Amino acid sequence: MSGRNQELLEKRNQHVPQGPFNITTAFIKEARGAIMVDVDGRELIDFAGGIGVNNVGHCHPKVVAAIQDQAAKFIHTCFHVAMYEPYVDLAERLNALAPGDDPKMTLFANSGAEAVENAVKVARYATKRPAVICFDNAFHGRTLLTMTLTSKVKPYKFGYGPYAPEVYRMPYAYCYRCPFGLTHPSCGTACANYLEEFFISHVAAEQTAAVIAEPIQGEGGFITPPPEYFSTLKTICEKHGILLIVDEVQTGAGRTGTFFAIDHWGVVPDIVTMAKSFAGGMPLSAVIGRAELMNASHAGGLGGTYGGNPIACRAALAVAEILIEDGLMDRAVALGETLKARFDEIARRYEIVGDVRGKGPMLAMELVEDRETKTPAADKAKAVVSRCFEKGLVLLSCGNFGNVIRTLMPLVITDEQLEKGLGILEESLAEISGS
Ligand code: PLP
Repeated sequence: MSGRNQELLEKRNQHVPQGPFNITTAFIKEARGAIMVDVDGRELIDFAGGIGVNNVGHCHPKVVAAIQDQAAKFIHTCFHVAMYEPYVDLAERLNALAPGDDPKMTLFANSGAEAVENAVKVARYATKRPAVICFDNAFHGRTLLTMTLTSKVKPYKFGYGPYAPEVYRMPYAYCYRCPFGLTHPSCGTACANYLEEFFISHVAAEQTAAVIAEPIQGEGGFITPPPEYFSTLKTICEKHGILLIVDEVQTGAGRTGTFFAIDHWGVVPDIVTMAKSFAGGMPLSAVIGRAELMNASHAGGLGGTYGGNPIACRAALAVAEILIEDGLMDRAVALGETLKARFDEIARRYEIVGDVRGKGPMLAMELVEDRETKTPAADKAKAVVSRCFEKGLVLLSCGNFGNVIRTLMPLVITDEQLEKGLGILEESLAEISGS
């Protein structure tokens, strides 16, 4: 590396701590669609989308126009001080889109972690119960509560305890490495039914406010539960008056080919959290839930200075229009089919690929040293990511073992860019795996 990137990296290392990590050494000058250009003029194909934030692509003209228009009118009043139309328009839009026929209400915050924090507050207030059940491999953010809900110890939790109380964790539907040593479908979805036993051995059902789950675990490795998983969880939750919170921060806004990923399971959650792609890169998150739950909290108990900033809400309204009216979710479905066919083909060619999973264009491959032992190939996944970057492709790994390669490219990626990116990925995989 040389030139302006190198100069800026030196400055970064002098003035910014190492805590906020960097996957690449690139400093970006401009970005459009699925291409980022660094300060030295190198073009990078983006399979990371700013960690799942750019579903509609970098600088989509409708998003840019909405931001510019709103910025010229007013930037901030604070919703608690003087209200504005974009906040209520966006709430109305999301309430209509959210699964289920019950009336919904939505409140806005700034980040995914804040949305999860608020969802738990809403659930605790409405049920008057303290406990929250989360899952192995979960990722919900970096604040005290969301870090506690998160599963992966290093780097997310290590050294930052003590953690928040009344958080209980149970195994997830990780079929490739079944925590119960079973095989689907003969397992009878034991991992979901285990919730009943969990109430005996870990926390009482009548003390539990909510179960929180990602429809597809994002940071945890794109772990995708079998068809009956969520309906079983929901049935057990309903039986005990426990709320099901679905964290759609990474999976939402068209990422899997539907607006909400939970739609693939046909289950209606009580509360949904969103962030990332639904605001096209602006810092905005949402908590959408059944009206009587959302409205239970007293006035002043929820909110914040910046939550539902008008520019961010205008950007999110533009994103919803692009995804739904402009047919970008159809493109997501087609993209998902292309990707799945290609990943399956790669898995046939390279022994290192142990599993291909995901939904739509939220797809991943888990790398293993050996298909029998399934020993995670974390170093190789890391090497693939850095070899791809050398060749001009930005992509991310994930998984508790760090051995999963995931795709979160903008849905507007062209066929040519996609083909070029997949070529780089396959070439790098071949070089690293030595086959
Ligand atoms: N929930 C999920 C499922 C996520 O994937 C993330 C971030 O990756 C978060 C919550 C936290 O979001 P943020 O980084 O905006 O706080």
